[in-house]
Amino acid sequence: MNQTLRAIAGRFQTEGEIAVVRPLGEGFINDTFIIETASAHTPNYILQRKNRHIFTNIPAMMENIVRVTNHLKNKIIARGGDPRREALTVTPARDGKLYYKDDEGEYWAVCEFIDGTIAYQKADTPRLAYQGGKGIGRFQAMLADFREPLTDILPGFHNIRFRFKQWDETLAADPAGRAAQVAEEIRWIEDRRAEMLAFWRLVEEGTIPARVTHNDTKINNILFDKQENVLCVIDLDTVLSATCLNDYGDAMRSYTNTGLEDDPNPDNVSMSLDIFKAYTEGYLSETHAFLTPAEAEHLAFSAKYITYEQVLRFLMDYIDGDRYYKIKSPDHNLVRTRAQYKLLQSMEAQYADMQRIVKEELERYA
Ligand code: ADP
Ligand code: MG
Ligand code: MG
Repeated sequence: MNQTLRAIAGRFQTEGEIAVVRPLGEGFINDTFIIETASAHTPNYILQRKNRHIFTNIPAMMENIVRVTNHLKNKIIARGGDPRREALTVTPARDGKLYYKDDEGEYWAVCEFIDGTIAYQKADTPRLAYQGGKGIGRFQAMLADFREPLTDILPGFHNIRFRFKQWDETLAADPAGRAAQVAEEIRWIEDRRAEMLAFWRLVEEGTIPARVTHNDTKINNILFDKQENVLCVIDLDTVLSATCLNDYGDAMRSYTNTGLEDDPNPDNVSMSLDIFKAYTEGYLSETHAFLTPAEAEHLAFSAKYITYEQVLRFLMDYIDGDRYYKIKSPDHNLVRTRAQYKLLQSMEAQYADMQRIVKEELERYA
C-alpha cells in the first residue's frame, strides 16, 4: 500500500525527494495523507483520495478550487500577507492536470501542507466561535468581487424547492411503510413549508445574491496560527455559487448546538445564544461592508432555514428506509430528526434575540 501511495504521490509536481507518505486521519469525506519530503527546505504536501461517490465531477471541482484560491492569493498579496500560508496551494500532476486518476478510477489531488498550525475539532467557547465567524467572513469578503464561473458540483445543495420535490416523492412512495408512524414529525415539516419557500424565492429571484460559498464551515476546516488567530480556510471541495447565508446558517446549526446532532436526549439540545452572538460578531466584523440589506435581514432566518432542511433530510431518509445517511441503530435517523427539531424549536423561541443581536452588531458599523 505504501509503495502504491508513494507511486501516486510521485505523479505530482512536488518539490524535493519524497521521504514518506502516511495517513492523516481527521477528515470525514476524503482519505487524507501527508507527503513528507526529505529536506527541511522543501514543503510537505497533503495527498487526498477524493470521495467520488459524493463528488461526481472531480476535474470540475479542482478547477473551482484553483479559480477561487488564485483570487484569494491576489487579495492576500495585495495586503501584504503570505499567499502560501493564508490560502491553499494546489500542486498539479506532472502531466499538468489538477488531479491524477488511478487504474481503479479513483481521483487523487495534492496541495501544499501548511505547517505550524492548530486545528480545533470543536468550537465550544465564544472566543473560538468568534474566530470561526471571522474566518468564514474573511473568506467570503475576499471573494465578494469574484466574477468567474464555478461549476455547480453539488446540484440542489441547500435548495429547499429541490428538497421538497424529493420529500413529496418519498412520502408518496413511502418505500419503507414508515410514514404513518411519523405523522407528527411530518407535520413539523409541513407547518413550515410556506415560510421556507418564501425565503428561497428571494434567492431564486436574485434579491438575495449568489456569491462564492464554502459549504462546509466546520471549525476543523479552518487552520489557526500559533497566536490562535485564523490563518487559512481549507477543505474547498464544496465551493459553490450560492447564497452566503448558507455558510452562516450551517455554521450556526453546528456551532450553537449545546447537545449532539443525534442526541438521544433532546433535553440536551438547545441553541446557545452566547455562541450565536460570538460567531455573528466575528462574521460581521469581516462581512458588514459587502452584505446587502436583504442578506443582513435574513442572517438570523438562515440559521432556522439550514436547521429545518436538516430536520427534513433526516426524516426523509428515515421514511425512505435509511438509504442516504449511515445509521448505527434502526431509528437513528428518527433520533437525529428529533434532536435537530429540538434545535430548530430553540432557535424559534430565541428568534427575536437572534435578530436583535444581528441588528445591534450591524449598527456598530453603520
Ligand atoms: P475532508 O473533506 O475529508 O474533511 P480536509 O480537506 O478537511 O478533508 O482534510 C482533512 C484534515 O487534514 C483537515 O481537517 C486538516 O486537519 C488537514 N489538512 C488538510 N489540508 C491541509 C493543509 N493544506 N495543511 C495542513 N493541514 C491540512
Ligand atoms: Mg474537512
Ligand atoms: Mg471536505
